[in-house]
Amino acid sequence: MSIENIQSKMEQLKMSHTANLIPELLGEAVSTKSSLTDFFENVLSLEIQAREERRVAASLKVSGLPRGMHLDNFDYLFQASVEKARIDHLATCDFIRNHENVLLFGPPGVGKTHLAVGIGVRAIHLGYSVIYYTVEELLQQLKKRSQTPVAKQRGRAYVKNALVVLDELGYQSLERHETHLFFQFVSARYMKGSTIITSNRSVKEWVDIFASDEMATTAILDRLFHKANIFNIDGPSYRLRDFDRMIKEGANNAG
Ligand code: ADP
Ligand code: MG
Repeated sequence: MSIENIQSKMEQLKMSHTANLIPELLGEAVSTKSSLTDFFENVLSLEIQAREERRVAASLKVSGLPRGMHLDNFDYLFQASVEKARIDHLATCDFIRNHENVLLFGPPGVGKTHLAVGIGVRAIHLGYSVIYYTVEELLQQLKKRSQTPVAKQRGRAYVKNALVVLDELGYQSLERHETHLFFQFVSARYMKGSTIITSNRSVKEWVDIFASDEMATTAILDRLFHKANIFNIDGPSYRLRDFDRMIKEGANNAG
């Protein structure tokens, strides 16, 4: 049997990554006198690994998660109010299996988006379906289909995905009908999926976000907080760190 024959059968099995590598891998196996079982295992492992990489890349793309923010490039020394052990626990994604939420509060620039996205990226690596929206983007989606109750929109990523990362709650106030759609969204995910929310406004101020509708705000809070991991990040802005340093240095030089 020729190598081309083997390669075409591997292509039929969609083993395209190792199909291309077969001549090389065979040559290597001969020169290192590998056993047949080692050779076969090596081929399968390489194919599985390549597939896994393709899956992660594709899922990251459809998730809409911004690039470049990972848990391992978060500087915990800079942001002392974030307990690394708690983030490491979230990184196991047990919270997704338990349908818990994560709420990240704090002023601009403290790393809320970075942590939320980092956890989302981690969840994709572990095989969970993840989608990222800003609140504005989510509302646009919900408004397009406001004729159908959100809970009935089973095929939609914001209903069916294991994890929704919802960024920037509080930068914009919602109108009454938007508040109602948001409540439906939270309700549809309640006890069924996990949601990570970042907010620059404290819970006390949420009623201002939600059209001063106290009943809706309480109903939203009730469901989100039922099983929630809460982080209050209270520290310096990472965006302004160079600026802060310059000011301090300037003050020292002057003094
Ligand atoms: P927030 O969402 O709280 O306004 P971001 O998460 O967007 O803040 O952080 C602002 C920028 O600073 C981003 O580029 C982010 O990657 C970076 N950043 C924030 N905190 C940290 C940190 N502790 N370590 C590394 N990068 C950080
Ligand atoms: Mg942010």
